[in-house]
Amino acid sequence: MAKIQSIRGMNDLLPADSALWQYLERTVSQVLSSYSYQEIRFPILEQTELFKRSIGEVTDIVEKEMYTFNDRNDESLTLRPEGTASCVRACLQNGLLDNQQVQRLWYTGPMFRYEKPQKGRLRQFHQIGVESFGVASPDVDAELIMITARLWQQLGLMPYVTLELNSIGTLEARANYRTALLEYLNQYVDQLDEDSQRRLSSNPLRILDSKNVQTQQILQQAPVLTDYLDEESRSDFEQLKQLLDEVGIQYRLNPKLVRGLDYYSKTVFEWVTDQLGAQGTVCAGGRYDGLVEQLGGKPSPAVGFAMGIERLCLLLAETGNIPSTLTNQPDIYFVVAGDQAQLAAVKIAEALRTELPALKLMFHCGGGKFKKQLKKANDSGAVIALVLGDDEAALNQINVKWLREEREQQTVAVAELATQLQTIFNS
Ligand code: ATP
Ligand code: MG
Repeated sequence: MAKIQSIRGMNDLLPADSALWQYLERTVSQVLSSYSYQEIRFPILEQTELFKRSIGEVTDIVEKEMYTFNDRNDESLTLRPEGTASCVRACLQNGLLDNQQVQRLWYTGPMFRYEKPQKGRLRQFHQIGVESFGVASPDVDAELIMITARLWQQLGLMPYVTLELNSIGTLEARANYRTALLEYLNQYVDQLDEDSQRRLSSNPLRILDSKNVQTQQILQQAPVLTDYLDEESRSDFEQLKQLLDEVGIQYRLNPKLVRGLDYYSKTVFEWVTDQLGAQGTVCAGGRYDGLVEQLGGKPSPAVGFAMGIERLCLLLAETGNIPSTLTNQPDIYFVVAGDQAQLAAVKIAEALRTELPALKLMFHCGGGKFKKQLKKANDSGAVIALVLGDDEAALNQINVKWLREEREQQTVAVAELATQLQTIFNS
């Protein structure tokens, strides 16, 4: 019979890789907690309308990347392609933004986009997203960027990432720029790539994002968005840069950075790396002051970002930043030699787990010959084997056997075992 396969672009996370994911998630959640951000969780499935209304009808995501289907009740549902829209929806529905409350939130989980699967680009991928609501001033934009910078520092990734920064201004500033850009690009319609030609009428700013070489060449002489910024956006952007300078975060101004979603305004940023080929953006975000109102709430300023877990794990591996302490191997493998010892062994193992919860203790299950058990202990990668035979059990003793170094086996009183192990594993 043919084996059933997973869906293309939707990967399993195997035990060999899960320790790295957990390390990344743990580090992120610690950093976020140190800035007093709180976790929020919301469903993976939402009404299609939510994403259409927030992300925008003429974006890549809504035009061609969403997993949308009708449920049994003929309601159009979509597997979330990103988290911001759902986060805003959840906040509004639960009154978290009432009375202009400030909220600092984060979430993590799978996102779904129908894309061409390749390294660092999947159909089910995972993001950690961070959103801050209720503060209009650029100090909170800076705070979000500081969070990411601290994270790269802790993960050892800072030498491999660059912060790209831009301000895309208010809707009005963008409308003025749009007119100027169109005027310029209309001279070169025939030379633009197909996607960009289509975007001339739908979403011309997105043309700045084009990866097409010829289009990029044409864009070199195009008007620059920065020259069209409104006064407030301009001064907010200056303040943001000043704050980043103050805390020593370097950035590269990129006037062509526009971001793929409709809801952004003012600050936009991306952390990019040259270590992952075409999938070089590991974290991206910006301000989206209009979105809350667009989704039916009272206006509330907001700014956020999302990072891709797969890409960050690839980057950690690529740059040799997987901590050597990360392992799925047990510290201790418990071997039982003798029928009488069986019950005593289980009791000793359970007591150890209570006393030393940080130790990974694998207990041999399924019986079998002593030699076979010892081989299992060796293969497990454990540092030591605890061996309990009938004789030791009768004397309330246990043998400590070193598996990774030439060292005499040691016999220890069960009452002192936890203390001994603590010494062994702390040194
Ligand atoms: P790209 O330009 O690479 O398609 P994007 O602008 O569509 O990215 P965002 O919507 O800003 O991406 O998502 C934030 C982050 O999530 C990205 O910077 C990236 O790290 C990650 N990400 C986005 N799409 C995917 C995907 N299909 N597979 C893996 N990671 C992804
Ligand atoms: Mg994309």
